[in-house]
Order: sequence, then structure tokens, then C-alpha cells
Amino acid sequence: MTSTGDLPVQIAIDGFVATGKSTIGEMVARRLGILYLDTGVMYRAVAFEVLEQGISPTDADACARCAVALDLRIVPPTIADGRQATVLLGSRDVTWEIRTQAVNAIVSQVAAHVGVRSALRAAQRAIAAAQPVVMVGRDIASVVLPDARVKIVLVAALETRVARRATEIAARGQAVDRDLLREDIARRDREDSAQMREMPDTVIIATDDLSVDQVVERILEVVHERYP
Ligand code: C5P
Repeated sequence: MTSTGDLPVQIAIDGFVATGKSTIGEMVARRLGILYLDTGVMYRAVAFEVLEQGISPTDADACARCAVALDLRIVPPTIADGRQATVLLGSRDVTWEIRTQAVNAIVSQVAAHVGVRSALRAAQRAIAAAQPVVMVGRDIASVVLPDARVKIVLVAALETRVARRATEIAARGQAVDRDLLREDIARRDREDSAQMREMPDTVIIATDDLSVDQVVERILEVVHERYP
């Protein structure tokens, strides 16, 4: 599956923290043989660079300049350590550094600046114009790719998401403080809610009681309906 008419296939999957977006998005892309892009990585990379350069996360202009100048590459995994992709800033591998608590603490603030969003959205649209894509984030269906025929929002209860994220962190051999994790996820939900706007043709999937495979199959059904 590559394109319909002039538009490459676009599958938008949005959802709050730990709704399963990245696991599911990657599997859907693999099943269709098309590119997978996790836009959260891009916002995380900007937040990481903001920290590195000692910029204040509330300084909209400096954060936007940082986003525009970002030398970011997202490439297939270079190490088999559970990563979905290798994230490079220049030649530095920041794949895991963009997932630290320090980045989690400021990423939503950095992502809220209009200049940061417009720089990253332009890059995301350019990627989608060049090839079929499964793109995962918060504002993909509503703003980045409003013409995507497949618009999915994944939802899950806070406790389900805390449990999922705790399992992932433990699998990396790191200690988990569930209360802190819950607070962090709830805070990012609040801060990110401005980016989440539902479109009329969105399919909402509650993932709490579904396996990953069941969610993937449901999305593939929608894909086949909307791209017959
Ligand atoms: O998806 P993930 O949790 O890794 O994204 C990190 C942060 O990046 C989110 O909490 C949100 O603040 C921001 N983000 C965004 N728009 C997107 C993707 C992520 O604002 N499309």
C-alpha cells in the first residue's frame, strides 16, 4: 500500500502518555510495510537540547530557535537494546537521554511554544509528503495531517497507563516509583490537553482491555475500510 491518487497513505495515531501509541503505531507500520514516525521523539529532542544549552523552557523565542536549528536524525536501531529507532543529535546518540525524568519534566512546556510546534510540524509534513507513513503524536490528525484518511485516538485509564509505563521502565532494569510516575503522567496529560483536539472522522479505541494485537487488528480494519 503506497498511495491513493496523489496523496501518500497517511495514518494518524494520537493519544496521551502511555496509551500504547508507539508500540501499536510501529506494528501497524510494519504490517503495512510503510514508515513509522514517533513525533514525541522530535519534541523530546528539542527539550533535551534546551537543557543542554541551559535555555529556560519558558523562553519561547530561544526554544523556537533551538527547534529550527536542531540537527536531528531518526534512523533504524543501531543497537538491539529495545529501542524503536536510534535518535541522533549531530553524531551523538541520545536515544535514551531524551527519555529521562529531566526531559519528561520540561518537554510539554517546550512543546507548547508556537515556534517550536511550527518548526516540527513543517518537518513532519515534509516527511509525510514524501512517503506513506504511520505518524504518532498528539496533534497529528487535527493539525499535522488533517487529510489523513485514518485518524485514530487511543485512550486508556490513568492506572492502566501507569502500570504499562512501570513495566517498560522495570524491563530496562531501572527502579520505578509509581507515585512519581502517576504524578508525571497526570501532569503531562494536563499540559498536553491543549494539543489534543478530536476530529469528526476519528476512531477512538479504548485499549485498557485489549491486547496489543487486538488494537493493531482494529486499526488495520479501519485502514482497509478507508483505503479500500
Ligand atoms: O509521545 P511522548 O510522550 O514521547 O511525547 C513527549 C511530549 O512531546 C508530550 O508529552 C507532548 O508534550 C509533546 N508532543 C506534542 N505533540 C506531539 C508529540 C509529542 O506536543 N505530536
